[in-house]
Amino acid sequence: MKASKEAAQLIFIDCAPNRARSIQYWANFWLQNNHLPMSRQGKHQKTIRLIDDEDIAVKCHTWIRSQGRTTTPLKFKEFVEQKLLINSGITKKKTIAKATTTRWLNVLGYSFQSQKQGTYYDGHERPDVVEYRKLFLDKIYSYERYMAKYEGETMERIPPMLKSNNKEIILVTHDECIFYSNDGKRGVWTKTGELPLRKKGNGRSIMVSEFLSEECGRLKLNAQQHQENSSIPQEARTYLKPGKDREGYWTSEHLIDQVKTKAIPIFETLFPNCIGLFAFDNSSNHAAFRHDALVASKMNLKPGGKQPKMRNTVFGLNNQYQSMVNENGEPKGMKQVLIERGLWKNGLNADCQLCKDKVDDITRIDCCARRIISLQPDFLAQKSALEEAILEAGHLCIFYPKFHCELNFIERYWGAAKRYARENCDYSWSSLQRVVPVALESVDTIMIRKFARKAWRYMDLYRNGITGKLAEYAAKKYKSHRCIPDYVLVELNKVE
Ligand SMILES: [Zn+2]
Repeated sequence: MKASKEAAQLIFIDCAPNRARSIQYWANFWLQNNHLPMSRQGKHQKTIRLIDDEDIAVKCHTWIRSQGRTTTPLKFKEFVEQKLLINSGITKKKTIAKATTTRWLNVLGYSFQSQKQGTYYDGHERPDVVEYRKLFLDKIYSYERYMAKYEGETMERIPPMLKSNNKEIILVTHDECIFYSNDGKRGVWTKTGELPLRKKGNGRSIMVSEFLSEECGRLKLNAQQHQENSSIPQEARTYLKPGKDREGYWTSEHLIDQVKTKAIPIFETLFPNCIGLFAFDNSSNHAAFRHDALVASKMNLKPGGKQPKMRNTVFGLNNQYQSMVNENGEPKGMKQVLIERGLWKNGLNADCQLCKDKVDDITRIDCCARRIISLQPDFLAQKSALEEAILEAGHLCIFYPKFHCELNFIERYWGAAKRYARENCDYSWSSLQRVVPVALESVDTIMIRKFARKAWRYMDLYRNGITGKLAEYAAKKYKSHRCIPDYVLVELNKVE
């Protein structure tokens, strides 16, 4: 009984008594059968939840944002019942349970953040997220062998083994964080990751957009470097303080400007001859396209109209040139573009019902004009404005998987700075303005390297197939490791 309770406390967050009982059941089952009972998890009939509908999710996000940081499950329940369900036309339901609204908030990426922050919430193991996580890990580990590692008690630098024609790669991670003048209150419903900034009547805020690297901590020049390169800003950090005279919104243009005028010039001054791998959260803000990008969803079937003038492109095996604009200067539209590519069929519509309903079927490739265009290699290869800006400067770009804040080590930096701020700020507006920069500077480079080591440890666990609570447990237990030792991985895999 005692052992099973202890085990339950290690594995599960909630320590309900039945948790310990199921562990006793597993232990007995193991003794009798020499293997664990098959998990029933995920084998139940799947029901389709309303919240999985993208339109519903978008409406919820919009509402939650309009509420500032005052969203609670109860208020959200009111909104769902009084606005969403009545107008949705998809369901006859009129009420939902409070537990369901809480769950919906989790699915949408909102969690109740109190002092003790759990790393995991719904969305983390969603199939599309898991699939992207694998791509992300393959990509970052293909760069990792060109990176220095920091290990040991004093977090010493171990340079990468490079061939003479290889350049060293340095990971630079980014994120935005908002310090609120009401941060002193514990427990507010807030979104992790994407942070749209709203003007608010009370509770003013400062948003910080910062870049960190294991090599240098905060991305900034020291006094001497700054003197020698006076045309370059000393630090990459940018603040946005919403107020009467300000827009109050942090958009992708702000970030791209910060990357171009601060982060990249500072990086190139600090690390000449190195390539920066700039890592960002997977937020819609970071996925925004340039106005002339090849984006099927913005096109009309016919020429002209409101559609954007897109850039010239090439298609087919011979890289045949194609202008997206007619001789009279108006955009060609999908039909003309497809005719020129030999892909137009009589009777093709702009859209089809299956695509509108977002029915996901990778074998459906020619149901409508928009689908055909969106699957063209040049459209598939279209990168976001942020990524284009970084690639054009000769550096690299990567986006973290959604819901995986444990992989972006800057999250722990915000945590440490907020702890400092809580202890040293009375949360008046003047005190907040004074304390935020000090709070950020209170985190030193060694600490930042340790945060990064923990993120690498998580990545190592995930790429070895260890996820969820077990990963969280192992990441805590093997504190001093950047990679989890092989013999431990063998044991952990047995548990799973
Ligand atoms: Zn279609």
